[in-house]
Amino acid sequence: MSNKYLIVGGVAGGASAAARLRRLGEEDEIIMFEKGPDVSFSNCCLPYHLSGQVKHAEDLILMNPEKFRGQYNIDARVNNEVLSIDRAKKEVEVKDLISGKIYKESYDKLILSPGASPIVPPIPGIEKVNVFTIRNVVDIDKLNKFIKKENPSRVTVIGGGFIGIEVMENLVEAGHKVSLVEALPQVLNQFDYEMVQILHREIMDNGVELIVGDKVTAFDTNKVILESGKEIISEVIVMSIGIRPETGLARQAGLDLGKTGAMKVDPNFLTNDPDIYAVGDAIEVYNTLTQDNFKLSLAGPALKQARSVADHIHGKTVNNTGYIGSSVVKVFSFNAAATGLNEKALANLNIDYGWADIIPKDKVGIMPDAEELGFKVIFEKPTGRVLGAQAIGRGNVDKRIDVIATAIKFGATVENLRDLELCYAPPFGTGKDAVNFSGYVASNLLQGVFKQVSMSKVRELVENDAYILDVREMDEYELGHIKKAKIIPLSQLRDRYEEIPKDVPVYIHCRSGQRSYNAVLTLKAKGYTQVFNISGGFIGISAYEYFTDKTTGRKPIVTEYGLR
Ligand code: FAD
Repeated sequence: MSNKYLIVGGVAGGASAAARLRRLGEEDEIIMFEKGPDVSFSNCCLPYHLSGQVKHAEDLILMNPEKFRGQYNIDARVNNEVLSIDRAKKEVEVKDLISGKIYKESYDKLILSPGASPIVPPIPGIEKVNVFTIRNVVDIDKLNKFIKKENPSRVTVIGGGFIGIEVMENLVEAGHKVSLVEALPQVLNQFDYEMVQILHREIMDNGVELIVGDKVTAFDTNKVILESGKEIISEVIVMSIGIRPETGLARQAGLDLGKTGAMKVDPNFLTNDPDIYAVGDAIEVYNTLTQDNFKLSLAGPALKQARSVADHIHGKTVNNTGYIGSSVVKVFSFNAAATGLNEKALANLNIDYGWADIIPKDKVGIMPDAEELGFKVIFEKPTGRVLGAQAIGRGNVDKRIDVIATAIKFGATVENLRDLELCYAPPFGTGKDAVNFSGYVASNLLQGVFKQVSMSKVRELVENDAYILDVREMDEYELGHIKKAKIIPLSQLRDRYEEIPKDVPVYIHCRSGQRSYNAVLTLKAKGYTQVFNISGGFIGISAYEYFTDKTTGRKPIVTEYGLR
């Protein structure tokens, strides 16, 4: 017997569910409704049209209704909006947006993948400016054409999440002057504050006016007005402050919403109606680390949830292992990836945790394209269970974070990271990969082998005249150092350690944290009890201080920055 499946939404989750349903049931009737003019486009590539990396807007569209019909025998109805669901009759009411005709369609099973819509708050004066949002091909085409025609003196992107960042970068690459305004003290909230500072610098160094910790309070003609009183003259505004799950249909049909405001589903992505499933940006999912529900607006989860739904409809077992959230983004010459929980998230949870911040090379140091990799792993205490990780560098960060994401999924500890057997040859990595290395450092911290302080605490240490010891070589010190730091190179430490007082805490740094770790162990062996490694070393400290120094006029704590 054949069944009739209706799908609301024809992009990531919707198109994926439709294709999988067809693979599992050749005779079934499958109708996919999409209120926009396109199905199955690449949302994730939309920003890349602005720079011309994706040359034509049409290139963003991966499949069209004709292909769906021809290849899959799926009825993909574009410009058709589902207006309501009648759960008792098991039918939906649909409006053909071209003809205006309203009609009904019955279902055996209904899958909702309506996504989420960009938030545009009613900021005073918003009607006086050219505001754009980016959700689909129509949006990006409209923005691109407008910018090409009007050639604005400046574009202001509001919101420093990954969509805002990608839009900013692609506009800069297209030759535009760009301001980026973020209300929080940092962009890309999936990273911890100290990690993201290098990206703040990168954004600034690429000519973007980056404003953090300030928010838009009003608009005027071609003008953005911030809470601080600052005004930005800008003819184009791109609003990317976040998205809101499309829950209109769910509300109308009396389907349950969760505490996040997104749709509530069970482990098989069933709503409280046994014939209605929901997937993608419109739902909330279970976080295995926090043991609570959260919104996870990413393509990978939407695609896989959709596949699971088709499987479940066909009686296959769906083993929903929950979510941790893994993402990657490019920020000019840097790549930045994160998985699991960061310290900001942990601050609100009752979990005792530790962290290791390291800056290893991503390839053997003598290889010409070896780059430093800012790497942070966060673990539970006392179990050592890995809770999250962040990596930022010019090289391959996603590989490292993918390894950690996999490890987290399987409940790994930092000791497990230490022992992982990972591929190695000089053009790809190092014999002890950053992932292994983070396992070593984190295991040492967990076992109390040494103590550390964060690079974010160094300013306070300098202001309080703490004893800071630089163990780099003299030539490195002379190029730039922490003001008031004492210098005893590691190569001289065993002969000169008696110059270091024993009755005060000693904070030690080198370039990236490795030599200073050795110095900490040497001093401990000589009877020093209050010795601390400064995580991230001089390059971490420099990256941490740079952006705020440059944008606020704050007095530097270093003579020169040691930047990577
Ligand atoms: P969507 O793919 O948005 O599809 C929902 C569709 O449903 C929409 O086209 C909408 O028009 C339609 N619809 C809604 N209501 C109705 C109705 N009543 N009737 C008919 N149709 C309806 N994720 C990543 O993992 N990596 C990235 O790099 C990435 N980059 C992104 C860049 C941009 C600019 C954007 C906007 C998103 C990006 N995402 C990225 C997020 C990813 O695209 C989404 O998480 C994913 O598309 C969600 O899938 P979905 O099916 O829930 O919603």
